[in-house]
Amino acid sequence: MKEVTTSRNRKRKRQRNSKEEPCESPKNKNNDKKMQRDTKNDGGSSALSKRPKPSNFLDTLREKLSGGNFRRLNEKLYTCSGKEALDYFNEDPTLFDMYHTGYQQQMTNWPELPVNSIINWLSSKSSSLVVADFGCGDARIAKSVKNKVFSFDLVSKDPSVIACDMSNTPLESSSVDVAVFCLSLMGTNYSSFIKEAHRVLRPSGWLLIAEVKSRFDPNNGGADPKDFVKAVSDLGFTSSLKDFSNKMFILLHFKKKEKPNSNKKKIEWPELKACLYKRR
Ligand code: SAH
Repeated sequence: MKEVTTSRNRKRKRQRNSKEEPCESPKNKNNDKKMQRDTKNDGGSSALSKRPKPSNFLDTLREKLSGGNFRRLNEKLYTCSGKEALDYFNEDPTLFDMYHTGYQQQMTNWPELPVNSIINWLSSKSSSLVVADFGCGDARIAKSVKNKVFSFDLVSKDPSVIACDMSNTPLESSSVDVAVFCLSLMGTNYSSFIKEAHRVLRPSGWLLIAEVKSRFDPNNGGADPKDFVKAVSDLGFTSSLKDFSNKMFILLHFKKKEKPNSNKKKIEWPELKACLYKRR
């Protein structure tokens, strides 16, 4: 009876957590080490009475290991440059599958997906707009809208996806109408991704950014959104939307200026902290 109550409580707690912010602060990241310890202890003789049935135990172990791999790869992507990330996945493309299996798993915990708000925005505009999806993941945007979409990611799992480091795409300058970054400003050199978007966008083209809210929470080690908006504006954009209404994500829209900024002063890009996912 006691067992049932405990696992029910745990389940309730998980359900409550699933409505919370997906990221945790780096100070909690030793969860992975704890996970390894827990995994080892599961095989120890002292816990015989608490041990789950073998099939459940193996499933739980598999889940824990793949969750740990996902979090390790996720942290890697946030703490290296785009070029390093490309080399890393080129060396072993199976790691990309591992990352995306974990990512899809995380997505099932989010009450709302920011990619859907981007799809809705595109659907409300002319389908003749040409779109570049930077860090497209499973290319959900290309699959959901009528527009011509160029999808970029580090590894191509689908013939429609172009594999590259998105700071260096094969697109012509001034050739697209909308550039999208949906949860993909991951590299330490994220400013070079936005510079690439500026290059490929036509004048008056749109830059749409969806990011995890905690990365822009200055009270919690995140960047000040004002500094970020200023840096993007200094590059040659005008801010057109700052939507902080969602509990988990922020949406920022910009339009590329008709003419480049005359004042070529050095742009101060704020550091964007990594989004490290919670162990669930
Ligand atoms: N935009 C998708 C996927 C977000 S996950 C969605 O909203 O569902 C972030 C994606 O960005 C990952 O697939 C990762 O591989 C990709 N990414 C990160 N850095 C990149 C880089 N330098 N070049 C290309 N893709 C990158």
